[in-house]
Amino acid sequence: MTPANHQSPATNHQTPIRLYNTMSRKLEEFVPLIPGHVGFYSCGPTVYWYQHLGNMRAAVHFDIIKRMFMANGYEVNHVMNITDVGHLTSDADTGEDKMEKGAKRENKSVWEIAQTYMDAFLRDTDTLNIIRPTHLTRATDHIKQQIELIQKLEALGYTYEIPGEGIYYDTSKFSSYGNLGGQDISKLKAGARIDDTGKKNPTDFALWKFSPKDEKRQMEWDSPWGVGFPGWHIECSAMSMEYLGPHFDVHAGGQEHIKVHHTNEIAQSEPIVGKPWVNYWIHHEWLMSKEGKMSKSEGEVATVPDLVRRGYDPMAFRYLLLTGHYKSPIEFSWAALDAAAAGYKNIVRKVAGIIETVGANNHLPLQDIVFAEWHGKILGAVSDNLKTATALVYVQELLADDGADAATKIALFEFIDRLLGLQFTDRAQKLLAAENAPVPDEIQKLADDRNAAKAAKDWARADEIRAQIDAAGWAVMDGKDGVKITKK
Ligand code: AMP
Ligand code: ZN
Repeated sequence: MTPANHQSPATNHQTPIRLYNTMSRKLEEFVPLIPGHVGFYSCGPTVYWYQHLGNMRAAVHFDIIKRMFMANGYEVNHVMNITDVGHLTSDADTGEDKMEKGAKRENKSVWEIAQTYMDAFLRDTDTLNIIRPTHLTRATDHIKQQIELIQKLEALGYTYEIPGEGIYYDTSKFSSYGNLGGQDISKLKAGARIDDTGKKNPTDFALWKFSPKDEKRQMEWDSPWGVGFPGWHIECSAMSMEYLGPHFDVHAGGQEHIKVHHTNEIAQSEPIVGKPWVNYWIHHEWLMSKEGKMSKSEGEVATVPDLVRRGYDPMAFRYLLLTGHYKSPIEFSWAALDAAAAGYKNIVRKVAGIIETVGANNHLPLQDIVFAEWHGKILGAVSDNLKTATALVYVQELLADDGADAATKIALFEFIDRLLGLQFTDRAQKLLAAENAPVPDEIQKLADDRNAAKAAKDWARADEIRAQIDAAGWAVMDGKDGVKITKK
């Protein structure tokens, strides 16, 4: 019952990789800065509350980017930040601090809040079979690097101080400001009212905020400019440079980051490291609820533990995401998840059937040409701007391919699991183990009683017994070959 234990034949860099680059607004062939290596930065969560399924769409998408590069033979250095220092809740650097708000809500320290929700996020990523980043970097562990970066910008003349407020970035000094989002800054300036924050341009943003005079913040640090805390954007510039060097290959995040957060990251970084700081910018669309973008401000939002509590295999959610394309919104509903769960289970059942045919004979030779053909098709689809939905169509076609033998199919599914992280073979083995689990005497007795009730046409009693069997973690199925009892 163990699946064939073959390694995929090496396919180093044979598949052309194409990615849609937000900066050029074009599909571009991927060329790494260093052959065989990818430096990859993705914007991670703010840990003031549980991450909802929208955040997890982002995490699964980043995982697919990484797995695609790995399957093409690249070594990926993946850095993801954990924002554990408060942002002010609006893009304009005003409003409430999310972390301090979380601490008040739960009557805990900001540090406890950060730890609790970072741990919860990591548990959720493990549940969704997301490979952990090479470097998971907390903003509060990198205050020194953030201050050093602001000092460099200051020395180059990009900053100014607003007394009582903080140190700000002067966007008029950066001539390509707004290129990423295709913004015409002169229009933005002309249309904006002069606000009362003292900013010179509406697009200017805080690099360092001063702590309020009348309030002691839980998170604050000394700096050359006074006690305070870093602005929203500087952590990503500082931590990516620390772990990926001054230039790196890929930077990813949600599409809402194009016009402010990533635009500001570029403005902070390129005066220091030169242009271009990042070669490929990848932005994904949102997971939607009926009300619009799934977000914490929409009130009740579903989380990974909610899926598990409702009895879903978390892989069904991952499958739902991969049946769409990352550049299109996906609407989440329980009905959509039910359909995805059925589709996922259907594939698992078929894979289980194939594993059963091979049995213990797990070192059968592979059909090399058939393997290479399917491997190339599936990897080719994902390498072509991450077309996971197309790859899943090929998965169905592979299952139906009579020309591919069982051992080759199993080896291909092992590759598919490495590429898409959908754990088809793992779930198929669990299904077989459950189906072949010895039935305990008391469950067998209940099944016999149910058969007797059915023979006596006492349907109510038969249903009652089925519910008892169900509650004990077993399932009875009436098939043409008689009653089958399996572990759930
Ligand atoms: P946040 O904690 O809101 O800053 O978000 C963390 C990451 O999740 C960012 O990369 C966001 O772009 C992403 N994200 C937040 N909401 C959604 C959503 N509804 N769909 C997809 N990605 C999202
Ligand atoms: Zn970021």
